Amino acid sequence: MPPTPSLPILRGAQHLTFRCTACGECCRRIRVVLTHHDLRRLSAGLGRPAETFVQWLSPDEVDMTGEPGSFVRLAVGRRLMVLAHGGGACQLLQPDQRCGAYAHRPLDCRLYPFHLERDEQARPQELTRLDPERCGDNGEPTQLEPLAALDAQRWQELREFQQRVLRWNQLASHRLRFRKPLGDEAAFLAFLGASGSAPHDGVPH
Ligand code: SF4
Ligand code: SF4
Repeated sequence: MPPTPSLPILRGAQHLTFRCTACGECCRRIRVVLTHHDLRRLSAGLGRPAETFVQWLSPDEVDMTGEPGSFVRLAVGRRLMVLAHGGGACQLLQPDQRCGAYAHRPLDCRLYPFHLERDEQARPQELTRLDPERCGDNGEPTQLEPLAALDAQRWQELREFQQRVLRWNQLASHRLRFRKPLGDEAAFLAFLGASGSAPHDGVPH
């Protein structure tokens, strides 16, 4: 019988035993970049307009040097769309340190603290835990397959979001060339169709 081809070995598989202690620290420390998919899920799930979840950070308020494609050109300058904080933490963090939007939370929150590296064929190669000191490992092992599927969905949604940002920014350049004002934050959300309405492919007046 021919030997069974060996599956790639996942380095860092021991991190799958992570269990969240619900300390809430990541919800205070990390700024969650939102896509239009995240916003639609939050908006539909909590029954609130998309803009109530959003805060806009300028480039000097956040380190996103590795992901310039998420910055949006607005009338106020380049901005990054993140989940809004209030009182030093995510606005959805509850007093008992639990997430107030657990079933609808953004994909970055669902994946935290895992980080998955893949090879050229997109096969999982290495798993790391972003905050091994706080995020301990005393739980039942998480299954790799659903985690990898969620990670793939996250990257796909981010790619789609960045394509929309690119289109918006191209239209913004066009408007500048013709000395027209750039769109504001509300216009960008309407462009995304983030509240559930169909996106429109033009900068509003
Ligand atoms: S993921 Fe980690 S930092 Fe965040 S609440 Fe859980 S244990 Fe705390
Ligand atoms: S949406 Fe929930 S999990 Fe994500 S940062 Fe806010 S409180 Fe934390």
